[in-house]
Amino acid sequence: MRTNSPTRTVHAGEEKRKPYGSLTTPIVQSSTFTFANTAEILDFMQAKENEVTRPRDEYGRYSNPTQTAVELKLAALEGAEQALLFSSGMAAITTVFLARLSRGDHLIITSDCYHRTREFAAMFLDRWGIETSLLQIDNLEQLESLVKPNTRMLFAETPTNPYLRVMDLDRVVEIASANKITTVVDSTFATPINLLPLDLGIDFIIHSASKYLGGHNDLLAGVVAGSHMQLAQIEQARGVLGSISNPNDAYLLLRGLKTLDLRVKQQNESGMHVAQFLETHPAVRSVYYPGLSSHPDHETSKKLMSGFGGVVSFEIDGDFEVTGRFIDRLKIPYIGPTLGGVESIAQQPAALFSLDRAERQAAGLQDSLVRYAVGIEDPDDLIEDLKSALENLK
Ligand SMILES: *Cc1c(COP(=O)(O)O)cnc(C)c1O
Repeated sequence: MRTNSPTRTVHAGEEKRKPYGSLTTPIVQSSTFTFANTAEILDFMQAKENEVTRPRDEYGRYSNPTQTAVELKLAALEGAEQALLFSSGMAAITTVFLARLSRGDHLIITSDCYHRTREFAAMFLDRWGIETSLLQIDNLEQLESLVKPNTRMLFAETPTNPYLRVMDLDRVVEIASANKITTVVDSTFATPINLLPLDLGIDFIIHSASKYLGGHNDLLAGVVAGSHMQLAQIEQARGVLGSISNPNDAYLLLRGLKTLDLRVKQQNESGMHVAQFLETHPAVRSVYYPGLSSHPDHETSKKLMSGFGGVVSFEIDGDFEVTGRFIDRLKIPYIGPTLGGVESIAQQPAALFSLDRAERQAAGLQDSLVRYAVGIEDPDDLIEDLKSALENLK
C-alpha cells in the first residue's frame, strides 16, 4: 500500500473493533487513567522501562487514546515510525526547538518561514544562547557557508508562505548529512498527499494540523513525525511543557483526516485552474504558484511533489487600497488568516502584517499581494467570482 494512500487516511491508526462496537474512535474525555491496584502500577512502571513505545495511558498530559489514534494515522501517512500530536503548530515547532537545542548551538532557518517561528528564534532562543542564521531559500549555495562546527539543526519550510517557494530537499539532505545536521521541515502547505520529506531523508516533519490536515477550520493542532529514537526527547519535553493536544480536537482531526486525500487532490486541481486563469488576466500583474512554469521553483516542485497545493498568491495591478477593494468584492471566500480548510479564504498579507508600509516592505510583502487559499468549492464558481471582482477595478 502507498504511504499516503487514501485507504490509510480512512483506516490507519484505528482498531477495527472499538469500545461498545462503535464504528468511530471515541473521544476519551478523561484527564487521567486509573489502575486496578498497586501491582498494576508496578507492572506499568516495569513495562515503561523495557519498551520503546508507551505501554498504556497514564495521565492526559502524556497521552490519550483519541490522540494516539491520530498519531498512528499520521505516522502511517508520513511513512514515519512515530508521530506526536501538539496543541498547535507553534507548540510543535517550539517543543522541537526546546527539546533538541542547547546553549551554544547554532540553528539555521529559512528566511521565508512562518513569522512566529522566526520570532521564537529571535525572542527566546537568542536569550538562551542559541544563535540563529537565516538562509535565503533560493540560495542553497549559501547553506554551506552558513554551516559552523556548532550547527545542530536546519529548519526549513516548504512550500513557503506567501510566495510558495519550494526548496530542493535532495540538496538540503546532502549538505546536512555531510555536516551531521538534523533537518526539520515544516511541510504544512504540502501535506503528506503532496510531499513525503522523510522519504527524501529529512529527519523531522512538522505540520500545523490546523490547516489542511484538520481541513475544516474548526481546530488547532500540530504534529511532529520521525523516528522513535529522535522523537524520544521531544515526547518527554511535551510531557513536561504540557503542549499536547486535547481529546476533542484530536477527534475532529481524526475525522478531518479521513477526507484528506479527496480534499487535497481537489484543492491541487482547483489551485491550478485558478492560477492559470489569473495568469492570463490583464488586471493581475503576477501569479506565484509552483504548478505554473513561470514559477522559479517549478522544476523542483515537479521533481519532489505530487501536487502543487491549494494556495495561489498573486499581485493585483494596483496599490494597497485597490487590492483591499478587490478582496472586499469577492463573494465566495472568507477574509482572514489561515488556509487549508474546505472554505476558500482570501487575504492581503500586507494588511494583516503591519500598518507600517516600511515594515511591510522590509518583510518583502508587496502591498498588491493577495493570498488566495482555495477551498473545495467548484473551481468554475471561484473563477467566475474572481473575474467579476477584477472587472473595472481602478
Ligand atoms: C499556521 C502555520 C503554523 C502555525 O501553526 P498553528 O497551528 O497556527 O500554531 C506554522 N507553520 C506554517 C507553515 C503555518 O502555515
